[in-house]
Amino acid sequence: MSRIDDLPPLREVIAAHGLSARKELGQNFILDLNLTARIARMAGDLAQSDIIEIGPGPGGLTRGLLAEGARRVLAIEKDARCLPALEQIAAHYPGRLGVVAGDALTVDPLAHGLVPPIRICANLPYNVGTELLVRWLTPPQWPPFWTSLTLMFQREVAERITARPGGRAYGRLAILAQWRAEARIVMDLPPQAFTPPPKVSSAVVHLTALPAPRHPADPALLSRVVAAAFGQRRKMLRASLRGLHPAIEDLLHEAGIPPTERAEQVPLEGFCALARALAAAL
Ligand code: SAM
Repeated sequence: MSRIDDLPPLREVIAAHGLSARKELGQNFILDLNLTARIARMAGDLAQSDIIEIGPGPGGLTRGLLAEGARRVLAIEKDARCLPALEQIAAHYPGRLGVVAGDALTVDPLAHGLVPPIRICANLPYNVGTELLVRWLTPPQWPPFWTSLTLMFQREVAERITARPGGRAYGRLAILAQWRAEARIVMDLPPQAFTPPPKVSSAVVHLTALPAPRHPADPALLSRVVAAAFGQRRKMLRASLRGLHPAIEDLLHEAGIPPTERAEQVPLEGFCALARALAAAL
């Protein structure tokens, strides 16, 4: 295996710092630095970007990002045991790696002087991955602070993010992701790519923020419509959306959606049209 840097192999790092994997922190580490370098390259133009990494752990992806030329990496890690290993990486790449000890759900990465364009690249802890993604996709303003997201998910979650209408995977996450971003699966990883191996396969999803939503709609209303529609996804829309407006059948017609349709069949454009019809009727 070719070396991407002169730091010790990750197995040695893990042994030296006693980083036995903790399930409650979603710790499934990637030890193959050629693989982490490949994931890093998926994030885009690293040399011109500041990167936020959530959950660097022993630093495999962090090293991939830095070896591939990232201008700067800000890594947020909850497990204090990992900090000495990350400090060694920071010393190897002077001025390019900042480490924040804390919970990514509460740390504000923008308080650390990052310079746009900002990209997020992470082998996310599975327990907080979807919550972080939803937060990044629903900021108060669009375009968001990030240019792209390159994120590892369980394969099933990756499919829900990139799903098209007509299947079980299509739902709220697909609409959220695809309304204002371009989302695609760029890499599949089997369980054996991780130490310890998780029970399921994983995939890397790359999302690029669009400058503006694909179709106009009020974000809060679109979110209400989609939540109600997929909350009872087996029902016809005239039933699942009844609580939104007394004239929901008329509004569905106005949006070009047959009231007998089920949520799974409605394309993103249809939900946006319905949110607009609802806005005009409220
Ligand atoms: N980036 C490393 C790699 O690719 O091998 C580790 C990835 S591991 C799947 C997830 C990492 O996220 C662990 O290091 C874990 O300690 C960290 N983590 C878990 N919950 C976190 C949270 N709320 N905020 C920040 N880091 C967290």
